[in-house]
Amino acid sequence: MKVLLEENEIPEHWYNIVADMPNPPHAVLGPDGNPVTPEALAPLFPAGVIEQEVSAERWIPIPQEVREIYRLWRPSPLHRATRLEAALGTPAKIYYKNEGVSPAGSHKPNSAVAQAYYNKQDGTKKLVTETGAGQWGSSLALAGQMFGLEVLVYMVKISYEQKPFRRSMMQTWGANVVASPSTDTQAGRDVLAKDPDSNGSLGVAISEAVEIAAQNDDTNYALGSVLNHVLLHQTVIGLEAKKQFEKVGDYPDMIFAPCGGGSNFGGVAFPFFADMASGKSLRLVAVEPASCPTLTRGHFAYDFGDVAGLTPLTKMYTLGHDFMPPGIHAGGLRYHGDSALVSQLYNEKLIEAQAVNQLETFEAGVEFARQEGIVPAPESNHAIAAVIREALACKESGEAKTLFFNLSGHGHFDMASYDRYLAGELTDYDYPEEEIQAALDRLPKVDEPV
Ligand SMILES: *Cc1c(COP(=O)(O)O)cnc(C)c1O
Repeated sequence: MKVLLEENEIPEHWYNIVADMPNPPHAVLGPDGNPVTPEALAPLFPAGVIEQEVSAERWIPIPQEVREIYRLWRPSPLHRATRLEAALGTPAKIYYKNEGVSPAGSHKPNSAVAQAYYNKQDGTKKLVTETGAGQWGSSLALAGQMFGLEVLVYMVKISYEQKPFRRSMMQTWGANVVASPSTDTQAGRDVLAKDPDSNGSLGVAISEAVEIAAQNDDTNYALGSVLNHVLLHQTVIGLEAKKQFEKVGDYPDMIFAPCGGGSNFGGVAFPFFADMASGKSLRLVAVEPASCPTLTRGHFAYDFGDVAGLTPLTKMYTLGHDFMPPGIHAGGLRYHGDSALVSQLYNEKLIEAQAVNQLETFEAGVEFARQEGIVPAPESNHAIAAVIREALACKESGEAKTLFFNLSGHGHFDMASYDRYLAGELTDYDYPEEEIQAALDRLPKVDEPV
């Protein structure tokens, strides 16, 4: 069963959770230990985005031009997974929002389109960004094309070579894609001088993109997750879902989403948090890989967003900015840190987190594909695995909970990972406790402002 909305039901505002949080977010700090001012962000981001990054307004209007582009695929469908429920023999009801219907195949264009719009408004000519697995790069390539902006993407070299079709997709949408480390930037040249065969990393690619944006007046940087404005843009997911649940006269008891930097989790869960803030009982669960257990085992501390330490310091759950991600197949969930908003809510026990191992996630994804037809992204499989755990617990207890998760994307570009799973070549990996403890010593030392 599918629950559909009309195009005129695309939300007219984004929801800003800061207005409903019991405590204000921790300040973001500059290299001198003082809070970063909005002006300091101006070389990288457009005014509209900076305003949203620091806003405490509950409702922020979605520009008409952005809603027009959203109409290409939004509102996205809410599905009831009746075949999966039957296969599991659970009394629980399982619903999911399908963000895989966007042209790029994930939720990421919800923010890419908004960011491209505010840049166009500000007279930016070119956007530069980094991409790991390619999902953010393709979303920004699409969005840049929609608003007539040039897009330059530093793609981690190993992915550039191993995921040629994500690269062709970006090029089809007119983006220029460069394998990182590159000789374009000082950051890239430094890495290549030490290791000419470097495979690259997200941290290096971020450093390259930020360097280009900082040096060129007509060029801005765009980030696909983690920051407050990105989570804000993603709230269209949860806002639509609330209308869809209203249509069928139901309401979730628990909401699940995969969590990398936190944008699709925030997007689906935050609008429901507004109901929790006014007394409704509801559980919001972020699901992460056991191999990159940022929320469940990381430190809540100030840390950098990148390997080189070029970004401001954010108070967040972190595994250390020099965290080397193990080679798991959910590329979008391999970040060392997490959204400051998600981190704070988790620290204050207002949301929950679970970690799942890789084999269980693919097992869940294959079961989902066989029952519901859609082949999910490996990231989305994390939420599915957690939902299946809960649905089976309901079977034991006889409870008929309403479970809802975000299907953040489809897996059509990730079939090599499914191949390896089906061939029995994937293994589980729990991030070692020694590494987590060792990261504590490498966290930057800061005096926290009170
Ligand atoms: C990028 C990505 C994620 C993880 O990023 P978040 O910012 O945590 O949402 C999850 N699923 C898909 C399909 C992605 O592309």
